[in-house]
Amino acid sequence: MDTICLRDGYADGQYILPPLPYDVTALEPFLDAETLRLHHDAHHAAYVAGANAALAQQRSMSSAGISAAVAQSLAFNLAGHMLHTLYWGNLSPQAGQRPCGELARVIDSEFGSYSDFAQLFRNVATGVQGSGWAVLAKDAVSHRLVVLAAQKHQDALLPRMRPLLVCDVWEHAYYLRYRNNRAAYVDAFMDQICWHTVCQRYHHNKENNHACCK
Ligand code: MN
Repeated sequence: MDTICLRDGYADGQYILPPLPYDVTALEPFLDAETLRLHHDAHHAAYVAGANAALAQQRSMSSAGISAAVAQSLAFNLAGHMLHTLYWGNLSPQAGQRPCGELARVIDSEFGSYSDFAQLFRNVATGVQGSGWAVLAKDAVSHRLVVLAAQKHQDALLPRMRPLLVCDVWEHAYYLRYRNNRAAYVDAFMDQICWHTVCQRYHHNKENNHACCK
């Protein structure tokens, strides 16, 4: 299956909106086409436009007074752009996948078992206050796996954290189908994860040349 990576979100000196790696109906019944269309074509596109605008503004800035606000806007929009690119890539039309190979062994040794990890990730995603993200990341310093909660977008851009799996818990990600039942959306999300992509991110490799990615 085609997938997308962060590099697909930049070309010719501009941040760009990478196309969805599947049809807008491909994630039914987990997410409906209208949710995907709005989320990708409106919300994600707005973060791309916002990142380009803030970056251009920062480069042409003459007034010291608005620098912090523009930098905040850049952090918000750029992180939003990156997180959404990761989000599309770690969802799969094929439900019911589980981690395998080395990543499965690491998850077992870090969290006890896949189901312990899944329960933790569910709890974090459901518990993020307001709008934000749950993120499974690899800490490049300790080489440990960590589950992080981020409010808004930019908190997720922690130094030396490589995001492997991200779950958008902004209401725009689920409200049309799940209304206020975020827990039901997160439960369904856990069954639509593209572990192939998560595994590629873990190995820091877009090519499918390691044993656990079949
Ligand atoms: Mn979103």
